[in-house]
Amino acid sequence: MSSPKTEKVTMDKIVSLAKRRGFVFPGSEIYGGLANTWDYGPYGVELKNNVKKAWWKRFVQEREDMVGLDASILMNPKTWEASGHVQSFSDPLMDCKNCKERVRGDKIIEEHYGVEAAAGKNLKEIGEFIKEKKIPCPKCGKSDFTEARSFNLMFRTHQGVVEESSAMVYLRPETAQGIFVNFKNVLATTRHKLPFGVAQIGKAFRNEITPGNFTFRTREFEQMEIEYFIKPNTEKELFEMWEKECFAFYTDLGINKEKLRMRHHEAKELSHYSKMTVDIEYEFPFGWGELQGTAHRGTYDLTRHSEFSGEELVYFDSETNEKYIPEVIEPSFGADRTVLTFMIDAYDEDEIGGEQRVVMRFHPQLAPIKAAILPLVKNKAIITDKAEKIYNDLKKHLMVEYDESGTIGKRYRRQDEIGTPYCITIDFDTVEKDDAVTVRDRDTTKQERIKTSELLNYLRTKLES
Ligand code: ATP
Repeated sequence: MSSPKTEKVTMDKIVSLAKRRGFVFPGSEIYGGLANTWDYGPYGVELKNNVKKAWWKRFVQEREDMVGLDASILMNPKTWEASGHVQSFSDPLMDCKNCKERVRGDKIIEEHYGVEAAAGKNLKEIGEFIKEKKIPCPKCGKSDFTEARSFNLMFRTHQGVVEESSAMVYLRPETAQGIFVNFKNVLATTRHKLPFGVAQIGKAFRNEITPGNFTFRTREFEQMEIEYFIKPNTEKELFEMWEKECFAFYTDLGINKEKLRMRHHEAKELSHYSKMTVDIEYEFPFGWGELQGTAHRGTYDLTRHSEFSGEELVYFDSETNEKYIPEVIEPSFGADRTVLTFMIDAYDEDEIGGEQRVVMRFHPQLAPIKAAILPLVKNKAIITDKAEKIYNDLKKHLMVEYDESGTIGKRYRRQDEIGTPYCITIDFDTVEKDDAVTVRDRDTTKQERIKTSELLNYLRTKLES
């Protein structure tokens, strides 16, 4: 990013810009909405698709050791018994006796005493800690809660025509298990040698007790997950490789390094199956929050699925003639949190010629619209015809937009707010003199005159640099 960023971003500004400019709308708004659901609008869907494309390119297309998968959301319920979700995918739920607010016991401890204080505590210990420290209800401020009880986060539904006779199924709470149950199929069809990984992007559902902070925590969200299968006890270098790769995914796409940090989990914080976990956190306007996590899950998942399914989920090592269950490193990203982070990090306000502007400094690869084609006036066919021709030529190659309404200054402001890297103006000189256009750079606002015959190459070079 070319200019130093201001620290003016707030969640209110992001939510309002997202609505005003068509990135993210409140879900089912005409019916009064549905709490914590959000719909991606015309620019939001482009941005999110670009994030997913960049992720897939980096982690699947450009790597020889990775393949992709797209598994079903609905899975045989035994999957969730084997994975441990039926038994233990739950959060400690408490109700405030005074105002009836529902809270997550571990989260309110975290908010007051940090992650470490909450880690490893059972339901009883959580309740006692909150009582002893008189942690207040976030809504009414009193400290009078019910006992902590376990609340399973999986959504249930029924598969089949008549509800009573149909089978109960879950909406998957993570995409990972779709990869484990296909381990044998992927191995048989790709004949990959260890280490190799499988990537998947898709929806996941969790009945979160306290969703919020816009798209940071919702009940329906998208994940981008990798299960990377390795020979047991070879994790050291491979885990480090994934730590670096995941961090670089964000910084290579322009996220400010100062706002990112790695947090290695302490032993008592680790899930029962995990040998090692590191989170990438971002400093959101509401504080540090997890963006991505990489866990070393050992052989837990494949062992459990072997036991529950009766299928042998093993790898035959032709070099050593051994048969064993591979261990797994799991880098897991939230697509929506990643999109939110790119929006927050791109947000900037500056002054151009004495006028304030809001500008989204998206990395060109992520910008929803790559260039806007702006005829100087809209009532002169000689100019609009030329502008339309340029638009029709460019749209075959790049996501571009044609806009002829309002003053040129207003059109620039609009494109700045959706983060369009280049604005192309077609004026009288274009058609009468030099067959060239003015290209304005979003970040510097500098303008250059470029021949129309060279425009596509010029933009491509700039967008890729
Ligand atoms: P948290 O501690 O924030 O609940 P988690 O540790 O349970 O997250 P994982 O199970 O590791 O999260 O899921 C991987 C990624 O999926 C997270 O890093 C996050 O980006 C994303 N994610 C998890 N839960 C949600 C949610 N409710 N809404 C949006 N994204 C989520």
